[in-house]
Amino acid sequence: MSRAINFNAGPAALPLPALERAREELLDFAGSGMSVMEHSHRGKEYEAVHNEAIALLRELLAIPDDYDVTFLQGGATQQFAQLPMNFLGNGKTGDYVVTGAWSEKAVSEAKAAAGMAGGAVRTAVSTGTGDGKEKSYTRVPAAAEIPVDPGAAYLHLTSNETIHGVEFQDFPATGAVPLVADMSSDFLWRRIEVSKFAFIYAGAQKNIGPSGIVVAVARKDFVASGRKDIPKIFQYRVHAENNSLYNTPPTFGVYLVRNVLAWQKSVGGLDQIERWNREKAGLLYGAIDGRPDFFRCPVERASRSVMNVVFRLPSEALEEKFVSEAKKRRMIGLKGHRSVGGIRVSLYNAATVEWVTVLVGFMDEFARANG
Ligand SMILES: *Cc1c(COP(=O)(O)O)cnc(C)c1O
Repeated sequence: MSRAINFNAGPAALPLPALERAREELLDFAGSGMSVMEHSHRGKEYEAVHNEAIALLRELLAIPDDYDVTFLQGGATQQFAQLPMNFLGNGKTGDYVVTGAWSEKAVSEAKAAAGMAGGAVRTAVSTGTGDGKEKSYTRVPAAAEIPVDPGAAYLHLTSNETIHGVEFQDFPATGAVPLVADMSSDFLWRRIEVSKFAFIYAGAQKNIGPSGIVVAVARKDFVASGRKDIPKIFQYRVHAENNSLYNTPPTFGVYLVRNVLAWQKSVGGLDQIERWNREKAGLLYGAIDGRPDFFRCPVERASRSVMNVVFRLPSEALEEKFVSEAKKRRMIGLKGHRSVGGIRVSLYNAATVEWVTVLVGFMDEFARANG
């Protein structure tokens, strides 16, 4: 068997040891004679996995005791609507920092949800330039550019824009205003100071596991302040109070998340993971900057993403050739998002330094042959 060199943006590569463990345990989980998928979500076998996944997350991220970890569904996209449903009741306002395609979507869904609830949504700041579909995003705002309105119900930002390749390196201090972050594509790539945030959510399929699960890390008092007059299934409080077992969770997905987190811990936790990620990003941006006549990264240096690296070649025809020649060498997932074009390389935790070394070697060869 020869595994692909998988630079997909999501669903994305998973660490091989996490998959091998799933293969070993698939037919007979913990000596039970059945797979984990076939167990009741209320049984002790599944509950042990569920609680282990939560405990591993708490340990890896050093999550304070006054925060809940919950597993939600519907993808990060559902959170775009669920968050305002919970916190933007009558007359309340949610402020949004817009740095790319995903924060645009978050605003648009929040407007619809807040509209139903009698609340409002504001764009606090946008770094977009140009119009409509042509809008380009090449940086995150400096802390001083982000107005923090003490009256806002929360301030929302997208820590990493998966399509535009811009990422916050530091987070703004928002005082008493709850800071909410969509961390779907850069959750768990390094340590963060969880106490800066009131609510963090991340779809699993970028850096944590398979699609179908969203991990939320939320301060208890913030969750408790949410509305109680919306359907229970949408209330964050209900999921927190029931340890994410209010209804049937995606049990196999949670099991795979457990495997991924156990792997992260086994290799040395987030300090080691961050070292690898910085090494990979350093190699790749080094290759881009080393041939400025051929490769060009549109993102401002201080906002460059460590997870999703975007760049252009001299022409679209060369970009197409680059993607197809890379594919012949088992490298897949290099085509930029259809809305922005170019090349995108996703360097999530499961992508190895060796993969990036192979890619960088290929880039050099390609530039010499076609430059
Ligand atoms: C992928 C992604 C989403 C959407 O995730 P779904 O699971 O498709 O709902 C939202 N935000 C960011 C930053 C993403 O990368």
